Amino acid sequence: MNERRQGVPMAPRTSLGLGGPARSYICASESAHIVDALEDARRKGESVFILGGGSNVIVADAGFDGLVLEIATRGVQISVDGSRARVVVAAGEPWDELVATTVQRDLAGLECLSGIPGRCGATPIQNVGAYGCEVGETLVAVTAWDRELRREVVVPAGDCELSYRSSRFKRSPDRFAILAVEFELRVGGPPTCRYPELQRAVAGEPAPSLTQVRETVLTLRRRKSMVIDPADENRRSAGSFFTNPVVDGPCADRVAAAALASGFIERADQMPRYPATGGVKLAAGWLIEAAGMARGYGEGPFGLSSKHALAIVHRGGGTTAQLVEFARSVRDRVFDRFGVELAVEPVFVGMPALE
Ligand SMILES: Cc1cc2nc3c(=O)[nH]c(=O)nc-3n(C[C@H](O)[C@H](O)[C@H](O)COP(=O)(O)OP(=O)(O)OC[C@H]3O[C@@H](n4cnc5c(N)ncnc54)[C@H](O)[C@@H]3O)c2cc1C
Repeated sequence: MNERRQGVPMAPRTSLGLGGPARSYICASESAHIVDALEDARRKGESVFILGGGSNVIVADAGFDGLVLEIATRGVQISVDGSRARVVVAAGEPWDELVATTVQRDLAGLECLSGIPGRCGATPIQNVGAYGCEVGETLVAVTAWDRELRREVVVPAGDCELSYRSSRFKRSPDRFAILAVEFELRVGGPPTCRYPELQRAVAGEPAPSLTQVRETVLTLRRRKSMVIDPADENRRSAGSFFTNPVVDGPCADRVAAAALASGFIERADQMPRYPATGGVKLAAGWLIEAAGMARGYGEGPFGLSSKHALAIVHRGGGTTAQLVEFARSVRDRVFDRFGVELAVEPVFVGMPALE
């Protein structure tokens, strides 16, 4: 069993660099240790928060009054069978290292998800996605410890209830500890290249390779500070702070009309809008800018990224309470302007989600 420590600071373990201490902390490097720690916490009646790389969490200033269990298991198994490859990865493996390995091995399916921070076990939680792809497209199954049934379970992708930035795991945060994730990839490509910005960036390459697509995605992400770089002024964030809202058609038309009236756009068709289940998906970052908050907006320790309006960045010396206050002001301004409510993407730890 890995060592249990008391009063461990959380801020250095999160990409935002915020949050107070964990009352107890265990970093588990083997699946058996994850199960032992969860069973021990259950016997003690202790709350548990499962931590991966800390790139999608907002930890309260008071910290977490329970056990933070960091998942640090390692291991990747790749088996090829004809045109298909089965990849089974331990939950604690760094995600981008897995993507790099699969691209090097000429396996297609994860290349568009290059540069996303965090660990593999977290990727099914919010059905991680970028550049037109989501993990749900290649996910075969998740192996997890079911804290309710108190046994290991294999959840096939079809039972993970994956949707845009959500899943059964995200909706039941206290039930499953993900131990391993299985993907099926295509041997020899071709890469997925369906996102317009990515297509434009590789234009001129009639048949881009997996490596070219990965490198292009990384370049595009770096331009938006969406790759964690210690030298970047926007480095402390949780990525996109809000999810893209899905609204009904008349609401989307009203938003376009309001943006036209304010002079933010000249024609209604300049507003990004995409067909989505249940209505029309709008771009949260665009709504923030259209509501009058440009990139870099905000004084003091928190503001919008200077490269991407959808990321709230911690410029240093701030508190989680200040972050929440800033986020609420951004959300309220978008609502006042357009009547559209933005939902927060990262997970709140030791405190209620933004009301
Ligand atoms: C710069 C930047 C760019 C980003 N870009 C993207 C992007 O393009 N697309 C995207 O979808 N996300 C993006 N994100 C968000 C984030 O990187 C992903 O959500 C990532 O999968 C989180 O992984 P993590 O290991 O850091 O999870 P954590 O932040 O540690 O945890 C996130 C959630 O997952 C749970 N969790 C983690 N591991 C497990 C496990 N093994 N079992 C059960 N629950 C677990 C936690 O309890 C928590 O609820 C970005 C973040 C940053 C900082």
